[in-house]
Amino acid sequence: DFNNDDPILAGLNSAQSIAVTTPASVVQILAPPGSGKTRTLTSRVAYLLSPPQCLSPQNVIVATFTVKAAREMKERIAKLVGDGTEGKLVLGTFHSIARRYLLRYGHLVGIKTGWGIADTGDSLGIIKRILRRNKLPITDASQIRSRISHFKARNSSPVANAPPKQRSGITATQTTQSTQQKEKSIANEEFVQIYEEYEAGLESSNLLDYDDLLLRCLDLLKQHPECVRNVEAVLIDEFQDTNLVQFELTRLLASQANRITIVGDPDQSIYGFRAAEIRNLNRMLRHYPDTLVVHLEQNYRSSASILLAAVEVIQQDDSRPQKPLTPTHAVGTRPVLRRLPTAEREAAWIVSEILRIGALTGGVIGLGDIAVLVRSASLTRLIESACVRRGLAYKMVGGSKFYDRVEVKTLLDYSRVVHNLSNNDALARIINVPSRKVGDVTIKALVDEAEKRGKTLWEVIRNGVSGHGWKDVKISKTTDRRLGDFVNIILSTQRLLREESEPETEEGKTLVDILEFLLKKLAYQDHLRHHYPEDWETRWSNVTELLTQARNMCSVDEDEDALPLINGVEQSGDAPTGLHGILGRFLSNTALSNELVDGEQKGIQGQVTISTIHAAKGLEWPVVFIPAVYEGCIPHSRSDDTDEERRLLYVAMTRAEVLLYMSVPTRNSQKEKTTLSPFLTPSNLTKLLDKRGPALGFSSVQGTLRILGRKCPSEVDIQGVVEKSHIVSLLDDQIPEKEEWEEKAEADEEGGDEDDWRRRKRRRAEDAA
Ligand code: ATP
Ligand code: MG
Repeated sequence: DFNNDDPILAGLNSAQSIAVTTPASVVQILAPPGSGKTRTLTSRVAYLLSPPQCLSPQNVIVATFTVKAAREMKERIAKLVGDGTEGKLVLGTFHSIARRYLLRYGHLVGIKTGWGIADTGDSLGIIKRILRRNKLPITDASQIRSRISHFKARNSSPVANAPPKQRSGITATQTTQSTQQKEKSIANEEFVQIYEEYEAGLESSNLLDYDDLLLRCLDLLKQHPECVRNVEAVLIDEFQDTNLVQFELTRLLASQANRITIVGDPDQSIYGFRAAEIRNLNRMLRHYPDTLVVHLEQNYRSSASILLAAVEVIQQDDSRPQKPLTPTHAVGTRPVLRRLPTAEREAAWIVSEILRIGALTGGVIGLGDIAVLVRSASLTRLIESACVRRGLAYKMVGGSKFYDRVEVKTLLDYSRVVHNLSNNDALARIINVPSRKVGDVTIKALVDEAEKRGKTLWEVIRNGVSGHGWKDVKISKTTDRRLGDFVNIILSTQRLLREESEPETEEGKTLVDILEFLLKKLAYQDHLRHHYPEDWETRWSNVTELLTQARNMCSVDEDEDALPLINGVEQSGDAPTGLHGILGRFLSNTALSNELVDGEQKGIQGQVTISTIHAAKGLEWPVVFIPAVYEGCIPHSRSDDTDEERRLLYVAMTRAEVLLYMSVPTRNSQKEKTTLSPFLTPSNLTKLLDKRGPALGFSSVQGTLRILGRKCPSEVDIQGVVEKSHIVSLLDDQIPEKEEWEEKAEADEEGGDEDDWRRRKRRRAEDAA
């Protein structure tokens, strides 16, 4: 019996309510997409915070998969609890939670104050330098990075001529070892050497890479279990994509309370390539035999026809146990599978459809309701430019591209050096920006000099400019003077930071003041204007966007660094405080954010989301486009795990609520002929797909909106929009004209490819003549 007046339980089905309210201490919610797992987890958090349970929020740890998911979850909990306590929850991605622990207690495991996070670019930079030094091809850097990461994600390290040595009690598994074998382009001995130099490189720059955050946190919790003494509950979403280190972390975090709720769906495991282990779900069951397992079977997200098609895809994996999944929504519009001649036309078609959906629904389905989900990030370029051409606002999710933009990265790198002078890589990147006439050769010589003398790059430069000479490095008078200016900028910014670190200065400086001070000292706007005369304004607006983010972060009135209270352990350690600490948090946020929300803060209302499938996990949109569903793209040619690729398509399809469009260009952007993805060819699936689409007419628009629970405004004459050739005028001129377009659809039905179609068309034209 549930009290359905209770706002926390209102609207939940009985299985969900059981999962929310169960007194069982270990709970696993195993269920397919759209069945309300995340919603249930959210409600359980709210339930645990409310009377009579009344857990203290700062003693509840909630791990989500993305920053966005964390934010959404916090908003939902706020609605359910409504007293602001959600701000105190230890809620975030595994990495951000680990970061909090290390910030506060890292000194207990020997981490030096002022450490920073090495993002992917930093790691690659370190690896490239090692490769260069060892005269190895630097093109291998990226592959080596992931090979290193595979070891670290299993808490093991490579050993020459021996199977991976375990650093702790975790057993490496078969699959991950086979991945290792596949990646042997650099001999093991060399790799071991690179690995060690990489670790040393991080250490000397006082940086932790993403894997280190988790590993060092693991060390911390192992050595100092008192850090988790007050943890009362641990709740984790998307557990099927945790790696071994995260698995161990979960157990350690919960080691006192033993109250764990994990949520997962083996069918949606898509991070195997990053050493995630589906088996962690079963491992949990083995470790906690008393686990209450809750299955949810109703899908509340997608129309029945979308769900049916998606299930047809996942069922092709016959090794997987059958699971019931019933739709709660009406059939709706059939998913569309369209073939377009080229990748450019495919992109143009997608944009036209987006515009048409807007027109047909009178804007009731807006840009913000629509997502384009791609298998690999390289596919976004064409979609982006098609959007730009038609003036569609979009935002990119899934690449941390915003922070990778030169102008943004430079400002961040300056801040990172100010924050941590040992950050050799960031320093090497900014030495000559704006130009100080220090060429690449000189930078390399400086870096070598630092390495030779066992100093940081900063120490070498500072020594040099303060009259102690440059030793073996040739530096001209002018450059020496300019480097002197550079050193002064860094030092004066640091001074500013320190001044204001004095506690409780009333009208004290803020983070934004620090960034603005840097910009002014660097004459950064002028630099951009001179250096990028064509688009300096856009670049400058990216810089101001970063300032806005800094401002927003500081105005958030919550303790983002909240941690369970601990008695007996040194509370703040020697973590940077005041403005220095805030700068550190800001820099970590930029490194740990796996999304770019481009333009959102600039006041644009709705935007189409362009995202990788990987980053779309757990999210949903009324309308979803999946372009490039051809062999080689999905399944991807670089992947040898077909099942994971299939799950990826399944995840993508199940993001859609009412309209799902898949498309395939006959020739991809490399102009190669494509073959439809084998995941979409089985005949019982083909029957479910609409190959002629778009089939959106009057009744289907109404039906679609009904499923969404939205009303079409009466002043929109859908019938009129459909019937009048109005639609045609909306179509991009890059799309074949209507006649040709229909012909093309017919050609698709007849089979054959683009050439056949052209041949037939020519013949018909000749016949007509
Ligand atoms: P995924 O596996 O993709 O992460 P999920 O299982 O976490 O999916 P949710 O995102 O929690 O699913 O829920 C999917 C949608 O269904 C959400 O819009 C949610 O609000 C809605 N939903 C969940 N449970 C119910 C319910 N009992 N009644 C109505 N709607 C529900
Ligand atoms: Mg979810």
